[in-house]
Amino acid sequence: MQAIQHEGIFKSAHEAIVFACNYTSQQYAMSPMAKLLQRGAHGSGRGLVGLDGAAQSGMVFAELDALDYLQMLILVAKNSPRKERCECKHACCSGWKANPIYRDAVSQITELVMPALGSAFSFRRHRHAVVDKYFGEKHDIKSIAEDLGIPPRTADRHASLIRNFLKDAEKDAWTKWYERLDEAGMLLQTA
Ligand SMILES: [Zn+2]
Repeated sequence: MQAIQHEGIFKSAHEAIVFACNYTSQQYAMSPMAKLLQRGAHGSGRGLVGLDGAAQSGMVFAELDALDYLQMLILVAKNSPRKERCECKHACCSGWKANPIYRDAVSQITELVMPALGSAFSFRRHRHAVVDKYFGEKHDIKSIAEDLGIPPRTADRHASLIRNFLKDAEKDAWTKWYERLDEAGMLLQTA
């Protein structure tokens, strides 16, 4: 996919993705992000268009769409708010709910880390906890492993394979992302 030239609008590639992920979390269902997260499921990559006032985040999504799918998911999980305010007013509500963008990204990453474990059997619940924790959620991984009856050594080994896999993939994702926005001319020239 050929990069489109834009006027520089972001101070850094990091700022661009934080902006887009936060912007979108407020109007997820209608957003380009919702479509972006379905790319794996439907297998069709196509240009994303910003909705109404969302032109800038739309431009960021179009660049994200050009990344490897796992790399895109990692950047989204890393830069999206994990929780958003809930206005349901139910007595049992904490006033916060999971941000669906973050939740969907982590859920898909939980499947895509499987190659890190080779052909070893693993429980989704354990993988999910390890992935979710990598991105900042709290989990007691040890007791989850215990619950599932995974031998402690196996659980530790799997967790560290997953973490290393994510660390490497995240590093590549940031490198690609910086190159991509730079090429597209979306960063402010500060020289
Ligand atoms: Zn609520």
